[in-house]
Amino acid sequence: MTRAVDVVVIGSGVAGLSTALGLAATRDVLLLSAGDGSTPWAQGGVSAAYGEDDPLDHWRDTDIAGAEFCDPRNVRALVEEGPQRVAELIAHGARFDRNADGSLSRTLEGGHSRPRIVHAGGDATGAEVHRALRIALQRTGVRTMSGRTVGLVQSDSGSIVGVLVQTDGHVTQIDARAVVLATGGIGNAYLASTNPSAVRGDGIALALRAGASLVDMEFVQFHPTALHTGETSGQLPLVTEAVRGEGAVLLDAHGNRIMDGLHPRADLAPRDVVARAIEATMRRDGTDHVWLDATGVAPDVIRRRFPTVLASCARIDVDMVSEQIPVAPAEHFLCGGVRTDRNGATDVPGLYAVGEVAATGVHGANRLASNSLLEGLVFGRRVATALTLDLPAVDHGRTHEVSPGEDREPERIRSILTRYAGIRRDGASLNAAADELDALGNGPLATVARSVIVAATARQDSRGCHWRSDHPHSDKRWDDHIVVHLDAEDRPTTRHLQRSEV
Ligand SMILES: Cc1cc2nc3c(=O)[nH]c(=O)nc-3n(C[C@H](O)[C@H](O)[C@H](O)COP(=O)(O)OP(=O)(O)OC[C@H]3O[C@@H](n4cnc5c(N)ncnc54)[C@H](O)[C@@H]3O)c2cc1C
Repeated sequence: MTRAVDVVVIGSGVAGLSTALGLAATRDVLLLSAGDGSTPWAQGGVSAAYGEDDPLDHWRDTDIAGAEFCDPRNVRALVEEGPQRVAELIAHGARFDRNADGSLSRTLEGGHSRPRIVHAGGDATGAEVHRALRIALQRTGVRTMSGRTVGLVQSDSGSIVGVLVQTDGHVTQIDARAVVLATGGIGNAYLASTNPSAVRGDGIALALRAGASLVDMEFVQFHPTALHTGETSGQLPLVTEAVRGEGAVLLDAHGNRIMDGLHPRADLAPRDVVARAIEATMRRDGTDHVWLDATGVAPDVIRRRFPTVLASCARIDVDMVSEQIPVAPAEHFLCGGVRTDRNGATDVPGLYAVGEVAATGVHGANRLASNSLLEGLVFGRRVATALTLDLPAVDHGRTHEVSPGEDREPERIRSILTRYAGIRRDGASLNAAADELDALGNGPLATVARSVIVAATARQDSRGCHWRSDHPHSDKRWDDHIVVHLDAEDRPTTRHLQRSEV
């Protein structure tokens, strides 16, 4: 059975919902989803510089956290358009936490020079953003469909003209003049991640297979403080950075402050710095976690601001009001992704990408806290505006299907990526990873894993969340971006791209 719409949006997180909402009045849109992604799990908040805060300061904090590897024009779009998008979200009914005088409550997180993070339900911001966008979209009558997109339909001249969706064992083709990937990050390509299981990098594999290129895939962000539950696979609960924003501190096994003297912002240093410090501490002490001490934070602040974290801790019998919390870094966010322009267009006509799956350069080498929901809101609207102004022409040519197929040994792929492409990497282990992946086919997880490995192998310096112990310093000679594309045998391979070309 074949159906036809103007635009198919794949993914119902903040980016997909924002895109579909922005298109609802002008285009026939279908929103596809394989279940909830990361959005409803987001805790800390959305960053927005308004009032006495200056978007330029937000720009600077973003670039510093991103190891000065950000795309300056796109960061400018993010910080300047962000407050308006947050205001619209409020107009759609999102209820952010407010102070007694009615003003928005704003908190501080790592890497921010001032409190500019708005939040909802204490630490349940993503759920509220998701709820408000879903209800706003329902009101527009945009159609939605559950199912996993397993392939794209491509005209022989190269344009993407449809998708293949699997529901209950059946595959349906839906024709479209534009397809927007809003499929989130790659969490489930690792053994353990803060992301839910629907987030597995399908969009990355689909885009590559269609001939699009990826960029900055070596920059995989590890959140410093996932709750150490004892589980080593699946989705791990997060302890939001905002807990440190309210005064909690990281301690080693002997009770010493970990971040003392390591960075001027100490426990509120950018994520990559804190994650590396924790990794080094665990290696030195031979432990699999460190401690986050929030006992100095007033109990009423903890109960009001962090009900989600409080409940997660209670499930492992830790009372965060009076006891230290066991934490360890875990895979959290993909800073790179499908290479796009500022309006979500990829290298392939008819194919767009937005949100965590896309690489617009706003995160540079390391994402600033609470900039990701904002990215979905801002760039979702930009893609919608672009597709309202210009929809690709109908391509009546012959078509073929592109699909990464299925993975033969997904758990083996996950463990290879986890072992060799964690916080700390080196050339020898990356080569070993490439060898081990060689035998594991070209399925979606294998494609994602190889893309990270080849990019991390190619970048022979350390910056942001890419830390090579054999090349421990940032080196100007590596100021290029690493682009990943498929070779003639459908294997990810790399080339360098000068920063001015991005
Ligand atoms: C625990 C946690 C806390 C976080 N806290 C914050 C925070 O406080 N502030 C912040 O800014 N960011 C935070 N983040 C990051 C942020 O939540 C995500 O980066 C952001 O929500 C990604 O949005 P998205 O729309 O791009 O993708 P997602 O919300 O991940 O949605 C992806 C969608 O794509 C769909 N999908 C994937 N593959 C397919 C397929 N093959 N077919 C059909 N559908 C598919 C999924 O079903 C899902 O609907 C947090 C993330 C986590 C995991």
